[in-house]
Amino acid sequence: KSAGKSTWRMYRQDADPSRSTITRLSWKDRITEALEHDGLELHFQGIYYPETRKLAHLEALVRMKNMQKPGEIIMPGMFIPHAEKTGKIIDIDRWVIRSIIELLGKKANIPSIAINVSGRSFDEPEMPEYISQQLKHHKVDPARLLVELTETAAVSDIRDAERFIDALRATGCTVCLDDFGTGFASFAYLKQLKADVLKIDGFFIKDLISDHDSQVFVRGMVSMAHEMGKTTIAEFVENEEIFNMLLELGIDQVQGYYLDKPMKDHPGLNII
Ligand code: C2E
Ligand code: MG
Ligand code: MG
Ligand code: MG
Repeated sequence: KSAGKSTWRMYRQDADPSRSTITRLSWKDRITEALEHDGLELHFQGIYYPETRKLAHLEALVRMKNMQKPGEIIMPGMFIPHAEKTGKIIDIDRWVIRSIIELLGKKANIPSIAINVSGRSFDEPEMPEYISQQLKHHKVDPARLLVELTETAAVSDIRDAERFIDALRATGCTVCLDDFGTGFASFAYLKQLKADVLKIDGFFIKDLISDHDSQVFVRGMVSMAHEMGKTTIAEFVENEEIFNMLLELGIDQVQGYYLDKPMKDHPGLNII
């Protein structure tokens, strides 16, 4: 109807799964199936020092295999919201934690790795203990694990986040506030959340050249972070102009398509 009168459309149920109630209900099943049948995989993107362009660490980003269509990959933007709604995100986060710590344990010479942990996991009091157990079990130095806290509507209680961060830092992990400057990871929380690293949201980076206000924000965030002894990372560094501007603004580390794209076999993993 919205396309106007006398028009018709072919309808394929598999074209847009989110539009059908039947398949929307099955996101939980699809995620469960992926968790049980080796249907998740991790890609890696580099975070670099801008002055030397040397690799600082890697970020692990989860993808889901489409079990119905072999070879097709489902991006996190598609399934993470459903995973958060259904609580399945806790199992995904645990799977990522296990996989990365195991990898760090097997390969002693690869750089540190950052993982993303959903706000839903803050409510799980045993999550920091789980991370600490896995680190001990695989004999991994906690300093090699960075934990990025991602925004989610489920962050209901700032005190849960605070407890989570304090426990992680007590374990020796580095804590990073992801997507800083927007939503959950914003100034109001900075006072309470004792994070080591602020990853400035791509929202402030993508228009850095044309938008004067973005430059003011980034300059401010960098100087504030440095005065508090925190490290800054800029994400969404897509071209040389942005890269050079960030170098000028004194950012500590950069990540983005200008440097590399997330990939399964990142060269950083092959350092022996
Ligand atoms: P994020 O943690 O902020 O990750 C950065 C996202 O930006 C990634 O998308 C990455 O591929 C993309 N990106 C990197 N550089 C550029 C660039 O230069 N330009 C543009 N336009 N994009 C760039 P991805 O992999 O689709 O992940 C999206 C979000 O899903 C992540 O945002 C994170 O919030 C969530 N996520 C990813 N993996 C996990 C995970 O293992 N667990 C949890 N809980 N969340 C995850
Ligand atoms: Mg992240
Ligand atoms: Mg981010
Ligand atoms: Mg982001």
